[in-house]
Amino acid sequence: MRGTMQDWPLLCPKILDHAARLHPHRTILSRSVEGPLHTTTWAEVHSRARRVAKRLARDRIGFGDRVATLAWNTWRHLEVWYGLLGLGAIYHTVNPRLFHEQIAWIINDAEDRLLFVDLTFLPIVEILADKLPTIERIVVLTDGAHLPETRLTNVVAYEDWLAEADDDFAWATFDETTAAGLCYTSGTTGHPKGVLYSHRSNVLHAWQAATVDMFGCSSRDVVMPVVPMFHANCWSLAFTAPLVGAALVMPGAKLDGASIHEMLEVGRVTLTAAVPTVWLMLLRHMEAKGLGLSHLKRVVIGGAACPRAITEAFETTYDVRVAHAWGMTETSPLGTVCGPKPETADLDLAGRLDLQIKQGVPPFGVEMKITDDEGRERPRDGRAFGRLKVRGPAVTGAYFKGAGAECFDADGFFDTGDVATIDANGYMQITDRAKDVVKSGGEWISTIDLENLAIAHPDVQEAAVIGVPHPKWDERPLLIVVVKDGRSPTKDDILGFFEGKIAKWWMPDDVVFVDEIPHTATGKIQKTVLRERYAK
Ligand code: ADP
Repeated sequence: MRGTMQDWPLLCPKILDHAARLHPHRTILSRSVEGPLHTTTWAEVHSRARRVAKRLARDRIGFGDRVATLAWNTWRHLEVWYGLLGLGAIYHTVNPRLFHEQIAWIINDAEDRLLFVDLTFLPIVEILADKLPTIERIVVLTDGAHLPETRLTNVVAYEDWLAEADDDFAWATFDETTAAGLCYTSGTTGHPKGVLYSHRSNVLHAWQAATVDMFGCSSRDVVMPVVPMFHANCWSLAFTAPLVGAALVMPGAKLDGASIHEMLEVGRVTLTAAVPTVWLMLLRHMEAKGLGLSHLKRVVIGGAACPRAITEAFETTYDVRVAHAWGMTETSPLGTVCGPKPETADLDLAGRLDLQIKQGVPPFGVEMKITDDEGRERPRDGRAFGRLKVRGPAVTGAYFKGAGAECFDADGFFDTGDVATIDANGYMQITDRAKDVVKSGGEWISTIDLENLAIAHPDVQEAAVIGVPHPKWDERPLLIVVVKDGRSPTKDDILGFFEGKIAKWWMPDDVVFVDEIPHTATGKIQKTVLRERYAK
């Protein structure tokens, strides 16, 4: 017997309808790419997104069409997303930090028809335009006055383009499993692979993210996604904020410590999210200038392991709670968040900081297991580690154009490529990416554990550990360190700091001091480059 409840499809534009109806005056404050701050409201975004949809329809963009964006987090980027979603077209966020050839490859693979681009990235498009045969028109996210001279021919300023439509437009209706967004993983090996989100997966994911044990987001919050919209849906925040009626702060093109601090303060931000490198920059800036945080209550840190030292600085110096989160493009991205459960609520500060090194507990709708290489489930005892596999309504079931069938087991679990433990309370901890773990004498050494420890040294700004080939042990760990300005620790200072804190055979064989550690397009340490550089 079927239930008799209504069939109310989970469609993304309904999130914006809800925000505009119930939270119309809540603001969206952006740092515009042109420079000045800009304020709008959910009611205005709703109106302008409908104009975007109507104007797109005039360009004959419609159901199922892919449209690329090369853009920072601003109100205009939001309007474009929702305008596309309201037509049943697909927003395709392209990561501008990728190599040019990868950007072209991705746009061609997606067969994007239009390209919305920020002023900052116009030079990239000028270089690549001849290699983008499917792009019919380029819309620069600015007004006519700021549109620069360009050799491109099919270019229009967003505000001029948008002025040609009014907001008298009703969202299209379609099935909730319709594709909504497309995002490619950075593809450290082989070509990038596309993950095609649906309206249903985006809505459920935004709902999951809002819950108290996840990001804990409400209409009283002012949310600033520093994580870009081109990095896995900015971790749902462009959907979660309007879903709960929160205000938004969009940091635009400036992501350095000083600019982030300014936006946190001016925007009275209560909840923010980004990768650890962003927070390292902010903490360094605040430490150097003797600054504090007046409004911030919670910071979501994910995309790479969050070192204990970052959590400690936020919690003890700035009284900000850290939510350590794990996820990936393939999981929309939210997989787990680390926070207190009744079983861990009584921990003292030191115990809580130790717990926070873990990546945490999944929400309802993310099933998780660890297995050995034969697919047998491993115990949830916090010690046994195995390949981390996940399943759920916002986890990818395939890649765009059908690639990647080998990533799924017979029960439909997706193999994340991460190695992890799960403890008796359900807390998952990433030991490593399967390809980064150091295999020494048949045993595994977690590079994340060693990096966490190194970064706790008072002179260390950033640290990376890689395995380098060794004639006897196969691989041994090498520690690569960037020191803080004005400090000059020796190798022995650093390694001495590890004494007694790790098993002897985990001790890095050597320490290399460098000026800078390379990062991927999503702000993670680029271990492939380090391995090439230091393997010998
Ligand atoms: P890309 O591979 O393009 O950087 P993703 O953002 O999808 O894209 O990367 C996901 C991977 O990032 C995960 O599989 C995991 O290895 C790593 N990761 C994400 N969050 C964490 C975390 N909190 N701790 C450790 N690793 C993390």
